[in-house]
Amino acid sequence: QPAYDLMALRAEFPILAREVNGKPLVYLDNAATSQKPLSVIEAMDDYYRQTNANIHRGLHTLSQEATDAHELARQKVQGFINAASSREVIFTRGTTESINLVAQSWGRTNLKAGDQVLVSMMEHHANIVPWQLLREQIGIELKVIPILPDGSLDMDAFHRLLTPQVKLVSITQVSNALGSITPLEQIIPAAHALGIPVLVDGAQGIPHQPVDVQALDVDFYAFSGHKMYGPTGIGVLYGKAELLDAMPPWQGGGDMIDVVTFEKTTWAGLPHKFEAGTPAIAEAIGLGAAVDWMQRVGVQAISDWEHQLLVYATERMKAELPGLRILGEAAHKAGVISFVLEDAHAQDLGLLTDQLGVAIRTGHHCAMPVLHHLGVNATARASFAAYNTFEEVDAFVAALVRVREMLI
Ligand code: PMP
Repeated sequence: QPAYDLMALRAEFPILAREVNGKPLVYLDNAATSQKPLSVIEAMDDYYRQTNANIHRGLHTLSQEATDAHELARQKVQGFINAASSREVIFTRGTTESINLVAQSWGRTNLKAGDQVLVSMMEHHANIVPWQLLREQIGIELKVIPILPDGSLDMDAFHRLLTPQVKLVSITQVSNALGSITPLEQIIPAAHALGIPVLVDGAQGIPHQPVDVQALDVDFYAFSGHKMYGPTGIGVLYGKAELLDAMPPWQGGGDMIDVVTFEKTTWAGLPHKFEAGTPAIAEAIGLGAAVDWMQRVGVQAISDWEHQLLVYATERMKAELPGLRILGEAAHKAGVISFVLEDAHAQDLGLLTDQLGVAIRTGHHCAMPVLHHLGVNATARASFAAYNTFEEVDAFVAALVRVREMLI
C-alpha cells in the first residue's frame, strides 16, 4: 500500500469511476496523459465561473484577480521545482513548445554551423525534431548518445561524445518509450566541466519524482502540465535567469513588450518576454492546483508507489505471458512497461485489451528511433500513476492472458 489512502485518492478522480465497454476502466496510459483530480477540475471551473478576464491589461477587479491567480500559479511552480525566482518560470503550451523555444531563441543566437547538440537515442520526437529544424536553418550537427541493451544510457559513449564541439546537451530525464531514468547527476556536471549547458526534457520526470532544478544545476528544464495531473495546453520552460535574460524573444505580440513604436520596440522583462499574447490562464491556474495536489499527496510517496506497481506488474507479466519481451529493463526505471508478445501485433493487443476496459498505449510512442534501434516498429505500453492499484495490474495481466489466447 502507498503512504497515502489509495481509495480516498481514487475517489478524487471522477473519470476512474466510469466504465469502458461494459467493464470498469483500468487506465494505464498515464505516460501519454494522466487523469485530473477534482481540485484541478474545480479550480478551472471556478476561474471561469468567478474570475474570467484578460490578465496584465485591465485595472478592473476581475482582471486584477485573474492576473494574481495566474502569477500565483507561477509561484507554485517555482516552489515545486525550487527555481531561484519566478522570473525563471516561463509558461508555454507544453514540453514541445518549451524545447522549440530554446532551439529557436537560444539556439539561433548561440549556435553556428558545425556546432553540435548532443541528444540521446531514446529521445521523444519533441527533443529531436526542433534540433533538426535548427540544423536546416543554420547548419548545426545532431549527435546521438547510444543506449545499452538494457535500455540505459551508454555513459562511456556519452563521455566520448562530449567534446568541446558540443554546445548543448539536450536529454530526457525519463524515456517515455522504455522508462529508463538517465543519470542527470553525472551528465550535468560532466557537461558543465566543459562549459556546456544542459536542457532536460522533464515531461516524464516531473510526474514521477521530486525535481529540484537548483540541486540538479540544470540550465533549462521543460515539462507539460497534462502528464502531472494538470490540464492540457499548459507547460513550463524553466531556465536560469542569466540565460533567459540574454535570449531574444521567440514570438512577438502583446504582453511581451515594453514600448512599441514602428521604428523600434523594446521587450518586457522575464518571464513576460517569452509569453506573447493572451496566455492559457485557466490552464495555468489548473497547473497550480495540480502542483498543490501533488505536494499534498507527496511526490516521493507517488514515486515509491509507482515503483511497487512497476515491480509487481513486471513479475506478473513474466510469470503469465509466454513470448513476452519487455523493452528496457534498466536498473533505474520509472513506471513504464513497454512490451511485445511473440506472434501478437501491438495494435491488436491495444484494441482487444480496450474491449476489456483496459487502456494501454500501442505504437511508436513518438520515439521511433529507439524502437527501430531495438528492432521493433511498435510496442504496447502500460504506464502507472499515483491512483493505480495492484487489482488493476491483475486486471491488466488477466486481459493480456485472454487476448494472447485469442490471438495465438
Ligand atoms: N518528451 C517526452 C519524454 C514525452 O513523453 C512527451 C509526451 N509524450 C513529450 C516530450 C511531449 O510533450 P507534449 O506533447 O506535452 O508537448
